[in-house]
Amino acid sequence: MRARDPRFDILFEPVQIGPVKTRNRFYQVPHCNGMGHVHPSAMAGMRAVKAEGGWGVVCTEECEISPLSEFSPYIEARLWDDRDIPALARMAQAVHAHGSLAGIELAFNGYSAPNRFSREIPWAPSDTPVRGYDPIQARAMTLADIRQLRQLHRAAALRARDAGFDIIYVYAGHDLGLPFHFLTPRNNRRQDEYGGAVENRLRLLRELIEDTKDAVGDRCAVAVRLAIDERMGREGLERQGDGGEIFATLAELPDLWDVNVADWSNDSMTSRFSEEGFQEQFLLGLKALTTKPVVGVGRFTSPDAMVSQVRRGVMDLIGAARPSIADPFLPEKIDSGRTDEIRECIGCNICVSSDHTMTPVRCTQNPTMGEEWRRGWHPERVPRISEPARTLVVGGGPAGLECARVLAERGYDVALVDAARDLGGRVTREARLPGLSAWIRVIDYRLEALRRLPNVEIYQESPVGADDVREFDADHVFVATGSHWRRDGLGRALRSPLAQTALPVITPDDVMAGGTIPSPVVLFDDDHYYMGSVMAELLRSRGVEVIFVTPAADVATWTHNTLEQSRIQRRLIELDVRIVASHSITGVGDDHVTLACEYTGRTHDVPAASLLLVTSRAPQRSLYDALEAQSQQTGDASGTSLHLIGDGLAPGTIAAAVYSGHRAARELGMAPQTLMFRREIPALGEFPFPVRPSTDRQ
Ligand code: ADP
Ligand code: SF4
Repeated sequence: MRARDPRFDILFEPVQIGPVKTRNRFYQVPHCNGMGHVHPSAMAGMRAVKAEGGWGVVCTEECEISPLSEFSPYIEARLWDDRDIPALARMAQAVHAHGSLAGIELAFNGYSAPNRFSREIPWAPSDTPVRGYDPIQARAMTLADIRQLRQLHRAAALRARDAGFDIIYVYAGHDLGLPFHFLTPRNNRRQDEYGGAVENRLRLLRELIEDTKDAVGDRCAVAVRLAIDERMGREGLERQGDGGEIFATLAELPDLWDVNVADWSNDSMTSRFSEEGFQEQFLLGLKALTTKPVVGVGRFTSPDAMVSQVRRGVMDLIGAARPSIADPFLPEKIDSGRTDEIRECIGCNICVSSDHTMTPVRCTQNPTMGEEWRRGWHPERVPRISEPARTLVVGGGPAGLECARVLAERGYDVALVDAARDLGGRVTREARLPGLSAWIRVIDYRLEALRRLPNVEIYQESPVGADDVREFDADHVFVATGSHWRRDGLGRALRSPLAQTALPVITPDDVMAGGTIPSPVVLFDDDHYYMGSVMAELLRSRGVEVIFVTPAADVATWTHNTLEQSRIQRRLIELDVRIVASHSITGVGDDHVTLACEYTGRTHDVPAASLLLVTSRAPQRSLYDALEAQSQQTGDASGTSLHLIGDGLAPGTIAAAVYSGHRAARELGMAPQTLMFRREIPALGEFPFPVRPSTDRQ
């Protein structure tokens, strides 16, 4: 049994927050999860696991307080009236069961929420189009509206208290919450006592804090989430300007300050664009202005970095969304001296993409995220087997490594073989690309875990064929042989292969293998995630002229979901990459590529010395096919079970490969697999239309 390193004791000190006390300094700040009011038990189950893992405070996501500001189609929490209490009470109770405090972020988002579901006219400080491109406008609030908002917020605070929450937020963050809109002159052009000078602009926030304290302050702590800097210079709030002044003015009013930057893409920056602790410059000095505890975030996964934040007086509580998603047991691992077992967030924002795609949260590092309730998956425990058996995993990429890890945790004897000298498959290669070095944590975590397990043997530089596999005579074989980038251009845009000419055609695999790329190169990105843009960055760093062609309207368009798109496009423009959007390839000559407009079909030739195709990947399943064929021939007398997993089954994200490996290993030997998982079905409401019992049908 290992013990906590005394260096980290400070992280386990209790902290008083108004009338409540948290047992340690680990604070899961509010974060969206794509489950919210639609999948409330799944949300509660996910939060419960974090409390079990040692997070002293566990908060909800944004919680709507009224149909006057609802966030559909995005799925957040909801507390419109008393009928919404039981769903959230379930979460509060589940968090309390592990000795943690439950927090709730009450949110009214004004012009940021176009009210697509309720069809109410959104409210704003001043008349303004809604955020995004919905062709509607929010209207300037009257003083009566402001009074109504205060009543709505107060009523929601009381319901939150009745649901059992200990910390109740007033949300002025991310340029999303209406109180924040009042703070910023570009959104607030009012002439009355709520507009103009900063003391007027902060009036609504002050009133909401006072109302909430008055309503629930005897039992609950009142927290404020404030975006103190918008990272847009004088156009927005600045830490060294109005942002800092607002904080200083209201310093003693709430029981806790949760401070970050706006907008969301600045707050939840990926590792490609930011380091751990990147928000520190905006928090420095705040604690000198208040006696109330301060929470900050910065994708903290290193306990030393956390201790440093507390010791240097940057923050009192270590806020985390993503690190708590990647490892719900991060605090518990520090507490029990198992820091080498921490599954560190890689900063990829696949979790964030779930909010944008309105689906339950998933995580590259933690395949159990979002599956706690619906599949009953625990991040730290897997079902043990009673009878030992021999397993063979071929391929040590993310799918194979995760599969081997889970099989070994379950008690199987595991042999893992890989043809390459370095384990890690695509991740090991991709982590060497510009900005992606943190991704190697996917491999580091799994190799570290495998090293600790006595029932695992690893064979590197061991390419195996079907006969080798048969000779090994395992009870269960998992083929995780991955994929490679296609050289024929097939993908979304091209449905028949490109003709071959003298023009060298290259794939990302060639570039990663260190091949030279003749300049200028036409880079055709029909993948739309990160690979095309990191290839362009890499080639620019080698002095290659890059013409970036994409059938989409902007580069790396899927990365809107990971909050990276505008940063990627800016970076490519700054690197002098020539971007040709809304175009596809229709032909290749010896010294040029022919492009066609996606709308008109008009073509033009672009001179090129090479063509880099980032279109789609082909699964490498020859080993699996050979094994399948052999077992067909022999009538499968051996009784060996055979499984194809990861990119070899269907190329996808690294998160999908890890999930595939995890699931195959966790479900091995279980009762006949079912696609069904737990789900909640809405209670039917009253139905004032004539009905006829189905049994009466003629
Ligand atoms: P995934 O994302 O599904 O994990 P990767 O492409 O990252 O897939 O990894 C596949 C791994 O499988 C690579 O490390 C590769 O070296 C290995 N591999 C492929 N074919 C064989 C084989 N026949 N024998 C051993 N290892 C193999
Ligand atoms: Fe971190 Fe990526 Fe997991 Fe999100 S999906 S928590 S960014 S590893």
